[in-house]
Amino acid sequence: MPVARYTTKALQPESVMGALGFGCGRPVMIAGPCSVESEEQILAAARAVKAAGASALRGGAFKPRTSVRSFQGLGEEGLRLLARAGAETSLPVVTEVMDTAQIDLIASYADVLQIGSRNMQNFALLKEIGRAGKPVLLKRGLAATVDEWLAAAEYITASGNDQVILCERGIRTFETSTRNTLDISSAILARSLSGLPVIVDPSHAAGRRDLIAPLSRAALAAGLDGLMVEVHPRPAEALSDKEQQLDLDAFRALMEELALAPLSPERRLLEIEAAMRSLEAERVGLVGRGN
Ligand code: PEP
Ligand code: MN
Repeated sequence: MPVARYTTKALQPESVMGALGFGCGRPVMIAGPCSVESEEQILAAARAVKAAGASALRGGAFKPRTSVRSFQGLGEEGLRLLARAGAETSLPVVTEVMDTAQIDLIASYADVLQIGSRNMQNFALLKEIGRAGKPVLLKRGLAATVDEWLAAAEYITASGNDQVILCERGIRTFETSTRNTLDISSAILARSLSGLPVIVDPSHAAGRRDLIAPLSRAALAAGLDGLMVEVHPRPAEALSDKEQQLDLDAFRALMEELALAPLSPERRLLEIEAAMRSLEAERVGLVGRGN
């Protein structure tokens, strides 16, 4: 059993992590396409996820693809488009760093630096990335134990940066009907052992969009701190991970199902009126009993 090695300080609303929504008593939702593909695509995704209540925009510009023949990302142009979409929608942006040589460039565009699964034990990268002074989203390796995951996080906190977010994105098991196997127990343990916020990425865990909603519900029911979900305006045309990306309507429906979507003033008014009627009925009942 791994032991706790560190705990982060209480998250202050005025801290960068607070600005992302951590520590505010509401699950954080990071959403956006697997890869930034064009200005139109990232802007459409950003506007839709913002309107649906997301707290941050994701999008890969440097992509860790299994095959060199697959789309590798737009590179710096992708960072530029992502940062512009984030600025237009007032959403902080999250994107992956694959190499120490990319840290300064990516930190000049992004609010949160992501370390992908395949780099969870890239110790040179872990040692350097904390120095950029930005929150780091550390994904769990495909075959990493909780102990190894927390040890990787400690490489970042050891540089004096305790703004680390852990992300469970499914592990390799014998099961082949899903892309990976979402390991909620380890996510819960990692959270209690480290004191760090832990989010779940159901998109890469399942690899199929029909499981995103139930896995998201499971993660939030387990008390985890948030979710990272892939969303694309036209998933069938996506240049990466097309089977697991939600379209804009499905994302909106997910946010409503999770009670994370902002309510229209009309809907909120109806809720307030219903609550007032119920309180009035309770008041009348109590008065009738002579209290
Ligand atoms: C991603 O989030 O873009 C990604 C590549 O995920 P993972 O590192 O979990 O495979
Ligand atoms: Mn992806």
